[in-house]
Amino acid sequence: MHVLVVEDEKKTAAFVRKALTSEGFQVDVLTEGDQVIPFLTSHPADVIVLDILLPKQDGLSVLRDLRRSKNTIPVLLLSARGGMEDRVGGLDAGADDYLPKPFGLGELIARVRALGRRSLPQQPAGLQLADLSIDAITRTVRRGGRLLDLSTREFQLLEFLMRSAGRICDRATILQHVWGYSFDPGTNIVDVYMRRLRDKVDADTQVRLLHTVRGMGYVMRVES
Ligand code: CA
Repeated sequence: MHVLVVEDEKKTAAFVRKALTSEGFQVDVLTEGDQVIPFLTSHPADVIVLDILLPKQDGLSVLRDLRRSKNTIPVLLLSARGGMEDRVGGLDAGADDYLPKPFGLGELIARVRALGRRSLPQQPAGLQLADLSIDAITRTVRRGGRLLDLSTREFQLLEFLMRSAGRICDRATILQHVWGYSFDPGTNIVDVYMRRLRDKVDADTQVRLLHTVRGMGYVMRVES
């Protein structure tokens, strides 16, 4: 999922970028309001995190221009003031959500994720393969009714593989979608996580779901 962050305060922008990237989002950052619409024509985003106070063109004005051009991309507005005025003005201008500063990163991530789901309505929240089921909203995983304890990254990896079930995913594709890396970090991180995931998902069962395809990558499918 691509998130465009528009924020001129370097520290906040860096902080937000780091948090969203660590959650597996692909993040672009712009610092001036008038850059947003030209940028979107060549870099489509799934969610915009838009600060109100920006140089060149303020966030509310950018938002109005977006909606006037029939662009319905979900927008989370950030405001330093946090007053009712900004909130009402923001929702009037077409914002989907509003977050006053200072905010916690956990809250920001939860809201971005919720907005992202709205822009991807074709992706069901619940997925099932054999007796394995996951719920992307509550982030729960069950195998044969038993609740599995997965870390955030393990969950993201499993969700990605389940959405790609039956297709072989190579390491570069997994790194890009799950870690947000467009480069090879030169580690065996994918293999390490796959081992952990397999220990949890395929333990104590006759039907294995996570498979290595030698020299190619990984695939999820039902195999006894
Ligand atoms: Ca600002």
